[in-house]
Amino acid sequence: MPSGKDLFAPHISHDTVGAIALDREGNIAAATSTGGTLNKAPGRLGDSSLIGCGCYANNESAAVSTTGWGEAIMKLVLAKWTADRIQAGNLPEWSAQEAMNYLKQRLNGHGGIIVLDPAGHIGIAHNTPRMAWAYKTVHKEEAGVERD
Ligand code: ASP
Repeated sequence: MPSGKDLFAPHISHDTVGAIALDREGNIAAATSTGGTLNKAPGRLGDSSLIGCGCYANNESAAVSTTGWGEAIMKLVLAKWTADRIQAGNLPEWSAQEAMNYLKQRLNGHGGIIVLDPAGHIGIAHNTPRMAWAYKTVHKEEAGVERD
């Protein structure tokens, strides 16, 4: 069992899994699973289970899953905020990066985000040093722990 300042080491708190998917009929879906955050208060409800915060999907805009500092993500209703940018005509790549900029500028928050629109465009962004990600399409598959 880790103790002291080891409790704050990044390798202790890294169990979030987010997924977004698109089927051949154009239906999109999102899922987010988390163990919560380190030293969370008993009863704390994080962003992952709150639709629009850590998870959101709408065939008319986008599927979004987020990870990171949940309090800031909840205040900004970040997944819905990002989907709204896409519904307004922006691409997922740009919207994902803008979401991370907004999280940082507005609340000095940190996190990561994956985004998919009904046309199959993806966006991956994080303002943490690393975030493991992967995607697979009929044409290509790729994975990494950093995203430029
Ligand atoms: N966003 C989660 C929370 O604050 C933690 C995580 O999934 O990274 O509960």
